Amino acid sequence: MIPVRGFDKHKVAVLGLGRSGLATARALRAGGAEAICWDDNPAARAKAETEGFTCADLTRQRAFDGIATLIVSPGIPHLYPVPNLVVAAALEAGVPIDNDIGLFFRSFSTRDWDNFETLPKVVAVTGSNGKSTTSALIHHVLDQAGRRTQLAGNIGRGVLDLDPAEDGDVVVLELSSYQTELARSLTPDIAVFTNLSPDHLDRHGGMGGYFAAKRRLFSEGGPDRAVIGIDEVEGAFLANQLSMGPADDRVMHISVARKLTGPGWNVFAKKGFLAEYRKGRQAGSIDLRAIKGLPGAHNHQNACAAYAVCRALGLAPRVIEQGFQSFAGLPHRSQIIAESDGVTFVNDSKATNVDAAQKALSAFKRIRWICGGLEKEGGLGDLAANAGDVIKAYVIGREAANFAMQLKGVEAEVCTTMAEAVAKAAAEAAEGETVLLAPAAASFDQYDSFERRGEDFAAQVMAVLGQ
Ligand code: ADP
Repeated sequence: MIPVRGFDKHKVAVLGLGRSGLATARALRAGGAEAICWDDNPAARAKAETEGFTCADLTRQRAFDGIATLIVSPGIPHLYPVPNLVVAAALEAGVPIDNDIGLFFRSFSTRDWDNFETLPKVVAVTGSNGKSTTSALIHHVLDQAGRRTQLAGNIGRGVLDLDPAEDGDVVVLELSSYQTELARSLTPDIAVFTNLSPDHLDRHGGMGGYFAAKRRLFSEGGPDRAVIGIDEVEGAFLANQLSMGPADDRVMHISVARKLTGPGWNVFAKKGFLAEYRKGRQAGSIDLRAIKGLPGAHNHQNACAAYAVCRALGLAPRVIEQGFQSFAGLPHRSQIIAESDGVTFVNDSKATNVDAAQKALSAFKRIRWICGGLEKEGGLGDLAANAGDVIKAYVIGREAANFAMQLKGVEAEVCTTMAEAVAKAAAEAAEGETVLLAPAAASFDQYDSFERRGEDFAAQVMAVLGQ
């Protein structure tokens, strides 16, 4: 745990008592602060109380008297679509609002570091898609290279749950827009922006707000090195804003759309080959085509970003390549779960938005596509038209019929349940084809989470294959 600094003997309010909220309360207590906790859910409050935390309704009159700061959990929308009542009360009382990421950055370094030979570093990864894969890949490569490393953030472990840094540690944080938006301190040594496509727009008041939330990772602290995917206009703009000119190699440019062989420090992948160019000269290359854990151009983008971070940390290209080879990939992201009679079954339940689904579709050939669920704001656009090599779609979800109607140009069958979709797709699939779950929608109409949806897919596949 990282004890929170700067609030000794102060009261700090904690809103939201999920995993990160509870970890925050504990870390505040370890740093000498008194956590005053609140969650609308009585069960969550009861859990905090069993750990000895005080719970108090933060919407009551004068609730913020004597409170130094309000810490808000990432799951709680603070401004949009409607302002949160507790947040509004803190604003009214003039109490600063922060989150666990802000507390982490102000608390992570300690006097112990004076005795270290190699100062710990923090790598923070944000972007619309590929954050988890890129963060896990960086962590894996460092680990394989024998470097001390810890992984946390949006990927599962709360940042304040990390162990205090030891000599030479590299902490890799996956940060969502919800997390970067509120943190009052954001000072990573290396920051990564994978890509940008519409997502969570209701929560950020539109695309501009969404981009602004992610940009804070680069503007607040000013990382020593910024690794930026420049295939969308927002990334290109961000890279431009951060650099003094084309040769400024504090910004490392990433592309899977074009060859970047000019000045500066660039990593790109074309046709499955990754190349690093520095000051116009090639400095490294990796053949990504045979790396099982990183299929498709979208994963090649993640590989380029992870490569750039590892190069910035001083690893040699050969060592990075070895790490890539042994990367198994993450569950629910283009994950091959079975192969039978020449048919491959792939779980990409994490494709909860249109862009991610499109990328998953372009990573495979001859696809029987299981899709559908709770549609995101903005609709499906021309997803089906650009969907790549889809033979047929099998649509699940409560709104399956409506979803199927939007898939223009693709044969689509309304299946509603996962069991029916898997059974039909498997029965109709011929040798050389892929049955791919890439929903292009959230899971909450039928499942608790994308993980449960992916597990159901895997279970249905196993049932159909009799395994
Ligand atoms: P995040 O943590 O940003 O949600 P993940 O690595 O968990 O990213 O991947 C989420 C989804 O996006 C998966 O469906 C995956 O196949 C897809 N994906 C992964 N990397 C990329 C990328 N670079 N660009 C677009 N889609 C991607």
